[in-house]
Amino acid sequence: MRTDISPLISVSVLACTFTTIAVVIILSLIPVYLPTRQLTVPDCAARKAASVYDYIVVGSGPGGSTVATRLALNNFSVLLIEAGPDYDGGDTRTPGFWAQTQLNLPITINFYPYLYSKENDTTILYPRGMTLGGSAQLNALVAMTVNPSEWDNIAAITGDSNWSSQNMIGKYQPLVENCQYCLNNDTDTNKNGWADISAPAYRKPSPQLNITNPAISTLFEAINERLNYNPNVNENKSYDSWFYLPQSINQDEGIRSSTYKRIKTVQSLRPSNFHIWTNTFVTKLIIDPTTKNTCGVQYVKGSNLYKASPLASPSLNIKNVKKSVIYAKREIIVSGGQWLSPQLLQLSGIGDRTLLEKLGIPVIQDLPGVGKNQQEHSEISYIVKLKTNENIYESNNSNCIFNKTSNDPCLIDYLNNPTASIYSSNLNIFSIFRSAEPIVPNFPDSVFLFVPQRFTGIRTNWLQTMAQYPFGTYLTVDIELGRNKNNLGNVYIQSTNPFDTPLIEMKHFQDENGPVEVNQFIQHIRFLRDLFTNSQFSKYVDYEDLPGSQFQTDEQLSAFIYEYVWGHHACCTNKMGNTETDPLAVVNSKAQVKGINNLRICDISIFPVIPGYYPMVPIFMAAEKIADDIIIAAKS
Ligand SMILES: Cc1cc2nc3c(=O)[nH]c(=O)nc-3n(C[C@H](O)[C@H](O)[C@H](O)COP(=O)(O)OP(=O)(O)OC[C@H]3O[C@@H](n4cnc5c(N)ncnc54)[C@H](O)[C@@H]3O)c2cc1C
Repeated sequence: MRTDISPLISVSVLACTFTTIAVVIILSLIPVYLPTRQLTVPDCAARKAASVYDYIVVGSGPGGSTVATRLALNNFSVLLIEAGPDYDGGDTRTPGFWAQTQLNLPITINFYPYLYSKENDTTILYPRGMTLGGSAQLNALVAMTVNPSEWDNIAAITGDSNWSSQNMIGKYQPLVENCQYCLNNDTDTNKNGWADISAPAYRKPSPQLNITNPAISTLFEAINERLNYNPNVNENKSYDSWFYLPQSINQDEGIRSSTYKRIKTVQSLRPSNFHIWTNTFVTKLIIDPTTKNTCGVQYVKGSNLYKASPLASPSLNIKNVKKSVIYAKREIIVSGGQWLSPQLLQLSGIGDRTLLEKLGIPVIQDLPGVGKNQQEHSEISYIVKLKTNENIYESNNSNCIFNKTSNDPCLIDYLNNPTASIYSSNLNIFSIFRSAEPIVPNFPDSVFLFVPQRFTGIRTNWLQTMAQYPFGTYLTVDIELGRNKNNLGNVYIQSTNPFDTPLIEMKHFQDENGPVEVNQFIQHIRFLRDLFTNSQFSKYVDYEDLPGSQFQTDEQLSAFIYEYVWGHHACCTNKMGNTETDPLAVVNSKAQVKGINNLRICDISIFPVIPGYYPMVPIFMAAEKIADDIIIAAKS
């Protein structure tokens, strides 16, 4: 209460010079004044008396849920605070409905970042999850690890050998991965971790491609002729390979199995020391400006408070709502994801001094890297219209309409026999790695996902548009560039109201490597054109839908790529690094925020370089490592 009382002392000193009546009036205000001050300007002096939990974790996505559950399992008392609801429904459980979860408004938040920059003024729809389990409750379930060199790169950047591939793959992958698609005789895979990772349940693990559908086996042969991939998946030990996309699915039940399940499992194991508050939005970190100790968080109870929610009130202001404070004895761990984590830091006085001063936020730590270094996996769709509605799965997929309320024959199949239905998968048929020039040995630049829908990327009204084209009438190859280097994107708050969304600029292709990446896309598009026109598979193709025959020259294809690029893995906005030497590093190798005590970040925002092709599993592994750092520090 130290800073609360000092203004009162000066007020009473001043009061001595006035009449007794004035003193009485002022003193009579004290009981009213004290609690009000305590709520609006909370401070760390109140912590000892009010601390209940050892750790408070803000955000329950792959980062927050992993670290919170590990701490709870180690018998610390943990409060996990999540802005969204505790929701577990048919849409989030059914893998084939992953896209439809975005129509579930109470659990979805929609951002509209600039594809390039505010000046260029082209925005794109960018959904995230605001629900228990985070974006992993609505993501596309792809569960891939990273290239070992990426862990070694983090070890080199930070000087912390615990990030080495040897340690991350040897120690943390087994904690995470329960590989249900791996064959029993595989010796190099992990089958006892908490995250179920499976090929689509309806496929059943098979070393052979085992595709009975003539169109798809023709397509596979055409790919094989060009890339020499072995149809026996177990022989494809290199990255030049096709593969069944590993997904966060429980193969026995055919349902999504991810962070939500992990949270619920640990909650039942540790009911007395693992506590979860949902529909609770953290608006500020409580940090003592003198000691720089973080001791608690300010929060507001309620649902759909954040203005990225389609259900939020556009006029909601922090000034007009009831705020409360909760304190932690040990540490606060921020896990709000790539945009809400930097937003919370900036609102709390940690960030670029110029930005904070412009908004009138007292600077607690000048950290110019907060909100910078944003990176993304750029994606482009290549689409052909098929001549007939091919049934391209080894399961009944006729007339799938992805509708949970009407008579969807595929949903009926799924409900009757989940593990035999394509709804037990994210609808991907199979995938390949492919490299374009310049080739990095053992590190392909791209992954291609083959999907039997007209999928032009996640953009405004994409679900409504896709629904106009019956399932199986188009074949999309989603090309995802996995080794992007561009780190020019950023995220900045625009007001001091925590419910407002920040300004987000992706800055695709704007760095010096941009032309290389655009050129890689052009090479991939030309490869696919050749595949679909000059192979046996061409007999199934009606025409190229996207880009379309009007885009032929490099210049034309480049224009197409600039218009159609999208992504959904934004990251790296609180980058980890050597905090002694790198002025833009926000956290050190143990995820501790530079210059601030008892504050860590554990989510996708801490990666210095965008991880792998898909970030969820790398976040799980990184969070396990950070949990170890926290536990070791607490016990030493
Ligand atoms: C449509 C879509 C498809 C995707 N597909 C894949 C895929 O197939 N494979 C893959 O690997 N990745 C995929 N991703 C990306 C992946 O899901 C995310 O990168 C990952 O979930 C990020 O984890 P995180 O813990 O950093 O943050 P999030 O998962 O975003 O979780 C952050 C949580 O913190 C909460 N929160 C934030 N701020 C506050 C606050 N102030 N107070 C309280 N709570 C707060 C949020 O509500 C949210 O629940 C996809 C994402 C989307 C949206």
